[in-house]
Amino acid sequence: MKDWYQKSGEEVLSELHTTKEGLSSEQAKELLARLGENVLSEGRKKSTLRVFAEQFKDLLVVILIAAAVISMLSGNVESTVVIVAVILLNAILGTVQHEKAQKSLASLKSLSSPTAKVIREGQKLEIDSRNVVPGDILLLEAGDMVVADGRILNNYSLQVNESSLTGESTNVDKEDNTLEAELPLADRTNMVYSGSLVTYGRAVVVVTGTGMNTEIGKIASLMNATKEKKTPLQASMDQFSSRLALIIMMICALVFLLSLYRRMPLLDSLMFAVALAVAAIPEALSSIVTIVQAMGTQRMAKENAIIKELKAVESLGCVSVICSDKTGTLTQNKMTVQDVYIDGRTMAPEELDISSQLHRYLIYDAVLTNDSAIVEGKGIGDPTEYALLEMTGKINVSHHYLRDLMHRLEELPFDSDRKLMSTKYHLHGVPTVLTKGAVDVLLDRMTHIRTSEGIRELTAKDREEILLQNQRFSENGLRVLGFAYKEVDKNHELSLNSENGFTFLGLISMVDPPREESKAAVADAKRAGIRTVMITGDHKITATAIAKQIGIFEEGDMAVTGAELDAMTDEELDQNITKTSVYARVSPENKIRIVDAWQRRGNIVSMTGDGVNDAPALKKADIGVAMGITGTEVSKDAASMILSDDNFATIIKAVANGRNVYRNIKHAIQFLLSGNTAGILSVLYTSLMALPVPFAPVHLLFINLLTDSLPAIAIGMEPAKHDLLGEKPRDPKEGILTKDFLIKLLLQGALIAAGTMTAFHIGLKTGSSATASTMAFCTLTLSRLFHGFNCRSKYSIFKIGFSSNWYSLGAFLAGVVLLSLVMFVPFLSRLFSVTALNGSQIAVIYGLAVIPTIIIQMAKVIKYKN
Ligand code: ATP
Repeated sequence: MKDWYQKSGEEVLSELHTTKEGLSSEQAKELLARLGENVLSEGRKKSTLRVFAEQFKDLLVVILIAAAVISMLSGNVESTVVIVAVILLNAILGTVQHEKAQKSLASLKSLSSPTAKVIREGQKLEIDSRNVVPGDILLLEAGDMVVADGRILNNYSLQVNESSLTGESTNVDKEDNTLEAELPLADRTNMVYSGSLVTYGRAVVVVTGTGMNTEIGKIASLMNATKEKKTPLQASMDQFSSRLALIIMMICALVFLLSLYRRMPLLDSLMFAVALAVAAIPEALSSIVTIVQAMGTQRMAKENAIIKELKAVESLGCVSVICSDKTGTLTQNKMTVQDVYIDGRTMAPEELDISSQLHRYLIYDAVLTNDSAIVEGKGIGDPTEYALLEMTGKINVSHHYLRDLMHRLEELPFDSDRKLMSTKYHLHGVPTVLTKGAVDVLLDRMTHIRTSEGIRELTAKDREEILLQNQRFSENGLRVLGFAYKEVDKNHELSLNSENGFTFLGLISMVDPPREESKAAVADAKRAGIRTVMITGDHKITATAIAKQIGIFEEGDMAVTGAELDAMTDEELDQNITKTSVYARVSPENKIRIVDAWQRRGNIVSMTGDGVNDAPALKKADIGVAMGITGTEVSKDAASMILSDDNFATIIKAVANGRNVYRNIKHAIQFLLSGNTAGILSVLYTSLMALPVPFAPVHLLFINLLTDSLPAIAIGMEPAKHDLLGEKPRDPKEGILTKDFLIKLLLQGALIAAGTMTAFHIGLKTGSSATASTMAFCTLTLSRLFHGFNCRSKYSIFKIGFSSNWYSLGAFLAGVVLLSLVMFVPFLSRLFSVTALNGSQIAVIYGLAVIPTIIIQMAKVIKYKN
């Protein structure tokens, strides 16, 4: 049987029951229902049961089981029941959390899933790539990701990178002819394959296979194991936890031996050791880190920054340089033609006159070397191009009419490396190449000039004149396009090598105002210790003018062109890098060098990109940022963050959120670990002082898993405040657990432990050891609940206020209610080994619990003077 590539386009179409007009929507619906979505199945996901089972692998569970057994042996059956219930509850919570995190990652993934341009019922549509079905007519252009396998029907210089499939990194030229021979995949040049990238040209393709029926699907099914990657922070927390566990085990063994030495009964000694282990292990730590990160990405998605990799959230907080595109990111990408320069003079676009032959050629060039359209008043395609159509619309020249009248023979599409676009038409019966592009590029390729007096050779003075005019426009921040044409003989083939020998027609300048929020965002970035650098394909003078308007370019700064950059050695670049705030006329390779140079200085660099060739620079940057609206699928694929509004200001918001997430995680860790330290110190103290065991394991489990989790999550929800941008970026090499941080943990833990042990002593004096234990437990629980307020911010609660985070107040109240239930509901009191307390004992508990917080708050007031 013949393969798709061996059949003619017509054969393929009829076999797939489709035409060049595409499928009907009913057909597409039916096929989608029958064949399934166009996605690669992601291997077998872990079953819920397996995730549940994995929760028991934890060291904590082993210790808890030991605790349950010891409790049972010591005759405390209720305690055993509670511990078993806690183990189960913990496993259920862990499972639910895992599934939730998976879901939220999947929803982020779907936000960044690629789109595809298809024709259905004769209409061009942009649909989610998941809905593409065999028989769909797919339109491909440079920058697209091929989302399904297909047979090329019409080829316009299509070049594709198929490295994901063949491993071959060079671009492959495609064709639309039928191939007779049996050929290996890489030689089937009339086919495109899912997962490849369009690097150049255009093509119309009929889809032959989707989802797992594509060539990549066949391979994917072989290597389908999905691995969950941990972020550096998660990994370092895991590492920390396991190290901590080891240390704890050693201390436990020590305490156990000490108790035995003191001739304490074996079971009691074991209870000491177990209490210490339960007190010390930060059960909630790892899940809190994950929850806070997940919440952070959700918030960022709402603010138009879609995070593709969780680790980007962490790196965002360290960003110290942002390299941003100009057009569309810093500016509005709303182009409007301002002036036309033709026949040696500048005029308003309304003055163009189609009855003049000179003007007519410029108008033809503007309308025909142009792939955009205006439909129902809305521009479709490249804003630079539909600005030209709006201009001709103003003088009542219909682009629909001109395009219907004249048939495009050949084309060389625009690309930002070449900065030109050319097409071939029959104009007045003569084959003519029309071209438009960057003036400096075009000028080198022009030999003649056309004026109202006719065509003549281009003189040095003409060149000077054109350059001068270009400069005048550029100094006002205008984007300038040059227009030229040449008549050719009928056998002339349009090729990249033949884009020369043109006759100059004129210049058109257009405004693209900066986005309103750009200036403030650049100022915010500066305050936050972040350098903004403009990297653009536009002219140096235009770029500098815009950069000045929005505060990127300041007195004494440098602007460098791609060509100047090429001439610099790495050492020269290193010397100039901090002074240069504008790079103009850059190539994608230039971008990589710029990122590299900043990174050599130890900076964490964020780089934006939208083009097909930007992928390597986006990958090289620490945070590659792609444009959600105008970006190519290729750039989105390479980026770690996508801006759904293409806006520079969104990057700054994301940085603030990234800093906030990191800070909140740090504070949550501080909260959890200082609380645990208090527990450890209390147990150690009683052990050393030969006092009874202060806590039963259930007490500590109650605190660690219930009353501590709530404030920790609330701390994770602390909103981003303006002051976040007042600090310098975080040093990426600096971990969370610095010396200062550990000292703080120890001090705060010691304060809480002191309160707890005072309560314990009072309990021992006024009642039994059971009363003392209850008082110690209640004091520890309550003081950790109060401590939740201390860990919200480095500033005092008077400065940040309760109302700025209601969750924190809610968590406190919920914790107090839970504790009261345990204290006052007899059944729960029994379960949690709590005895009844009298009024004055309760007053003592509250007093002692609040004292550490009062001291910590006073210290903050003194330190930060508020
Ligand atoms: P940025 O990199 O900031 O997005 P840009 O959009 O100005 O900048 P390019 O799109 O690469 O960069 O454009 C570079 C130059 O190519 C422009 O200055 C303009 O002269 C020319 N140009 C832009 N669009 C077209 C087009 N559609 N056809 C022909 N020339 C174009």
